[in-house]
Amino acid sequence: MRPETIAIHGGFDADPATKSVAVPIHQTVAYAFDSADHAAALFNLEADGFRYSRISNPTVAVLEERVAALEGGAQAICVSSGQAAVHCAVLNLIQQGMNLVSVPMLYGTTHTLFAHMLPSLGAAVRFAESDQPADIERMIDGNTRAVYCESIGNPAGNICDVAALARVAHRHGIPLVVDNTVATPILLRPIDYGADIVVHSLTKFMGGHGTTLGGAIVDSGRFDWKEHAERFPMFSQPDPSYHGLVYTDHFKEAAYIGRCRSVFLRVGGSVLSPLSAFLLLQGIETLPLRVERHVENGKAVAEFLRNHPSVDWVEYAGFPESPYFGLAQQYLAGRASSVLTFGVKGGFEAGKRFYDELKLIKRLVNIGDAKSLACHPASTTHRQMSPEEQRKAGVRPEMIRLSVGIEHVLDITDDLGQALERASGATAIREAPLELVNTPSNSEYFHESNHHFYKP
Ligand code: PLP
Repeated sequence: MRPETIAIHGGFDADPATKSVAVPIHQTVAYAFDSADHAAALFNLEADGFRYSRISNPTVAVLEERVAALEGGAQAICVSSGQAAVHCAVLNLIQQGMNLVSVPMLYGTTHTLFAHMLPSLGAAVRFAESDQPADIERMIDGNTRAVYCESIGNPAGNICDVAALARVAHRHGIPLVVDNTVATPILLRPIDYGADIVVHSLTKFMGGHGTTLGGAIVDSGRFDWKEHAERFPMFSQPDPSYHGLVYTDHFKEAAYIGRCRSVFLRVGGSVLSPLSAFLLLQGIETLPLRVERHVENGKAVAEFLRNHPSVDWVEYAGFPESPYFGLAQQYLAGRASSVLTFGVKGGFEAGKRFYDELKLIKRLVNIGDAKSLACHPASTTHRQMSPEEQRKAGVRPEMIRLSVGIEHVLDITDDLGQALERASGATAIREAPLELVNTPSNSEYFHESNHHFYKP
């Protein structure tokens, strides 16, 4: 099936018991055993079925199958949030005395996990100077157990050369872990380019409506844990915490995700609720359509901002002058993300005035909602970082991050225009090439008579 079809049908046909075509919400903690032997077989992983919803649940299982299929992976697990996904994904690979090599452009809380929490457990995180493969390779040593990146960085908007990073990681016998939250599998499937593990905050574009927290970890099933058993004994040696289970024997190519479920979901407990899984499934049904409109509106908004006299700079990978333009063509087929950043002339104070003047666009910390959203990362999502860490993460003091929604694009630019005008006093009316926003779905609206920002 193609992505548009997987988004609607992946992991579910009709409920075998009731023939319900909507995915049922299995709001249950536990499942009845037929007998003591049946229970033992389930606990020994010899029989298929459900035991307890902290380990697996039929509604969550549909979401897991759908996300794995969208990403082209072997199997997935879903967890309570994107942050839980990042946390479990790396803890499943890294033990005391070992290290992780990461790009510096990261979502703020992931940076906090790497810079503070993992070191407190005895695992180091080595931040490379940049997202360039050579800078990453320089940081790898004999104790490195994974390379970590965001396919599209939040908020920097940098695009990682996933294939090159996968080659670097594999040269050193370690997996590449990619956070694909901002790109979504509609824009980019990291596994197609050699990534081994993909993580997601389902809270963002995947769910798409700002209602539900959730996360996913997808296993490509391609990394050979047996071949690299010296570095990763936890997959091929008996696990005393699960009566001696050997994950590579039992789960074969899905050993990584099998251990994630048996150790981190069962013992760590960051479980996704069945109702949340249902809401996320509903969101995913329209993901391909929404991403298309997000991308289209993002392009028009980036162009509007670039042409506005009150705007100092705009970082958008769809502009030919962006250092990531080439990678946007290579990996995203030119469909740059609708999460973009810009600075208002007049620096921090002008940026603050602009932010306070927004009316339609919501002031909050989230991305990937159907609604347009704005945030000031330096004072919110990336507040915990030092100014130097912020600089490396691509966060400037005056920077505004926009997550362009799927409202009518002229209502979005109207709001940006009025807020810029009030913040700086400069007029918003500018010449701009009409064809940039004259896309098939929006073209009927882009007539000279019913807009005032773009003049043909
Ligand atoms: N990864 C990225 C790239 C994010 O942007 C976020 C949240 O903004 C997360 C992970 C964490 O996701 P959640 O808020 O679902 O825990």
